[in-house]
Amino acid sequence: MQKLLLLGDEALAQGALDAGLSGVYAYPGTPSTEITEYIQRNKEAMERKVHSEWSANEKTALEASLGMSYAGKRTMSCMKHVGLNVAADPYVNSALTGANGGIIVAVADDPSMHSSQNEQDSRFYGKFAMLPALEPCNQQEAYDMAFYAFELSEKYKIPILVRLTTRLAHSRAGIERKPVLKENELKLPEDIHQFVLLPAIARRKYKNLLAMQKDFLMESENSPFNSYIDGPDKKMGIIACGLAYNYLMENFPEGKSPYPVLKIGQYPIPESLVMRIANECESLLILEEGAPLVEEMLRGYMNKPLVIKGRLDGTLPRDGELNPNLVRIALGMEDLTGQSIPEIVVPRPPVLCVGCPHTDTYKALKEVIDEYGSGHVFSDIGCYTLGALPPFRVINSCVDMGASLTMAIGAADAGLFPSIAVIGDSTFTHSGITGLLDAVNAKSNIVLFILDNNTTAMTGGQTSPGAGKLEDICKGIGVEEEHIRIIVPLTRNHEEFVKLIKEEIAYDGVSVIIPRRECIQTLTKKMRKK
Ligand code: SF4
Repeated sequence: MQKLLLLGDEALAQGALDAGLSGVYAYPGTPSTEITEYIQRNKEAMERKVHSEWSANEKTALEASLGMSYAGKRTMSCMKHVGLNVAADPYVNSALTGANGGIIVAVADDPSMHSSQNEQDSRFYGKFAMLPALEPCNQQEAYDMAFYAFELSEKYKIPILVRLTTRLAHSRAGIERKPVLKENELKLPEDIHQFVLLPAIARRKYKNLLAMQKDFLMESENSPFNSYIDGPDKKMGIIACGLAYNYLMENFPEGKSPYPVLKIGQYPIPESLVMRIANECESLLILEEGAPLVEEMLRGYMNKPLVIKGRLDGTLPRDGELNPNLVRIALGMEDLTGQSIPEIVVPRPPVLCVGCPHTDTYKALKEVIDEYGSGHVFSDIGCYTLGALPPFRVINSCVDMGASLTMAIGAADAGLFPSIAVIGDSTFTHSGITGLLDAVNAKSNIVLFILDNNTTAMTGGQTSPGAGKLEDICKGIGVEEEHIRIIVPLTRNHEEFVKLIKEEIAYDGVSVIIPRRECIQTLTKKMRKK
């Protein structure tokens, strides 16, 4: 079969395409973005007219996937780990609605927070929703798992979570393709009430979900992605989950661990395999990327009589990404920490690009806000969050998508004046609109900046769902027309910009200022294409 050199994200995308994907819905977020981007530029996907869409947010993406599944087709929704929080409502409920056509919920976690606000582990969501989850250890598994996930999804009529982590998502390796499967025909669910979660139906479906847990466990015990690999030295047994298995094996170049290894790539945790390694070995070392999910389950409260080592007892760091050397140290092998990093690659704080439109906005905002002292500006997530760093230091919060607006409302209610929110055009449509509605309904005294650079810049320039509609959205929500102010953020407009901000701060009510100028990166790309 054909071989391809692919990122982990791309391998999952190619696997889904080859397994008969009909549509993907996603919201961009590092390290998951490349899954959808790959499908969007894939020639075969274009010829086949595989539907691909950047949704307004992760919740709408997953709900659209549920709709496509309802119609019998195979579908995938993609997001980063914090995006799964946004999609948690449909995800947890989808355990009850189930699927018709296969659904993959592809979530890329970001341990070490390379580009994220937190370090959460999406496997917990699988456990919480009581749904099976898969975790590839390499690119080939990411590819193969797409086939497996769709089959499992359609067999039990439930969505399957596939969890990637940054290092796998963003590193490249060869994969071998399988024969391409045909897309499903349009087919409505046999049970017409399947997706109707009225209490009486939901109660029945919840019992059904509980009853299926033993099947999910049986599938996990027999999964091709879970295996027990025996070893002669029983002083220690190793449980290695997902990518951690790769890190482990990198320390044994000949491919043989002296210790028994339980490789886990499918959840729920395969109980009988865990019991086997626990019974055969004197102690256990748990290797898992992210949170100590398996370790906590095995320790229970007493941590007796088995000696269990991992992230909880300090054998491995409690936070951050694993790597082969950390695993090496945990195995009691020599620490191979390399040379110190040359100065040229010492991390430098990120800055806005030269010519970024946000620079002019922050210059104007800083000039005005300095009159009031710091602590008045609530921000959101995007390039503009860099306004927290020098030279601006103009924003004072960044909690989650949409929180700038709602925090500004709360602070204004508490008496903070002025109370200012800064959000990007894409983030505004992701989860800012409802906050603005709250502000209008409560007649909050806030000034909202929607920094419109006509793209989702931080993740590489995806289409912004609100492009060309921002004023109309604000008007529709009820912001007074004369307090929706548009300006082009350029040095020559600085004085006008400062004046405009002062006027809107002076207005007692909801003001929206839209500084509008295209992101310099996407503009440059467009110019080059021309
Ligand atoms: S990518 Fe665009 S929006 Fe982001 S910092 Fe650069 S110019 Fe500004």
